[in-house]
Formats: sequence, structure tokens, C-alpha cells
Amino acid sequence: MMEQRRGHRFDLGDRSWQGQANCLGVDPDLFFPERGASTREAKGVCRGCVVREDCLEYALINGEKFGIWGGLSERERRRIRRQRTVALRPDGVATA
Ligand code: SF4
Repeated sequence: MMEQRRGHRFDLGDRSWQGQANCLGVDPDLFFPERGASTREAKGVCRGCVVREDCLEYALINGEKFGIWGGLSERERRRIRRQRTVALRPDGVATA
């Protein structure tokens, strides 16, 4: 069960950074827009967030598949995960 009282959705792991989250008290739905809906407003909240990098790492490490985390959408985070996977491969070749 996700906690939505303090931030928009925080559940597992180290949460020490979350007390400084810019999204504290912001409507959680903003960070989970319907498919095709604008993410601009959520990303605007993230833009001024001092824990943006922590948030993004948290989402990447925990494999968060939905919503805006660290100012990035699911698709944008997937791209980063792919790039990291490629960087870890000895031949540096991406696989599907
Ligand atoms: S980066 Fe965005 S989603 Fe993450 S804590 Fe900051 S405001 Fe919230």
C-alpha cells in the first residue's frame, strides 16, 4: 500500500530524502496522468525539487513502471535503464 499523505507515492526503501520532496501535499494524481495526458504540470513540480536525483534513482532501482519520478516519465526512465544496461555489457551492444 502506498503512502500518499506526505508525498505523491512512496512505499519501499530509503526514504530519508522524501521529507524535502517538492511534491509533498501535491495531488498524487498529477504524477499518474492518464495515458496520453500531459505530464507538464508534474514535471514542473519536479523541476524545482532538491531531491530530484534521489527520487529518480529510487524509481530506477525499484523499477517503478508508472508515473513521473525525478521529473521523468516511464518512457524516459526506460531509456535510462536501457542505456545503463548497454553500458554494463562488455560489448556495449544493446539488446531488445
Ligand atoms: S522529483 Fe518530483 S516526484 Fe520526485 S520527490 Fe521531487 S517533486 Fe516529487
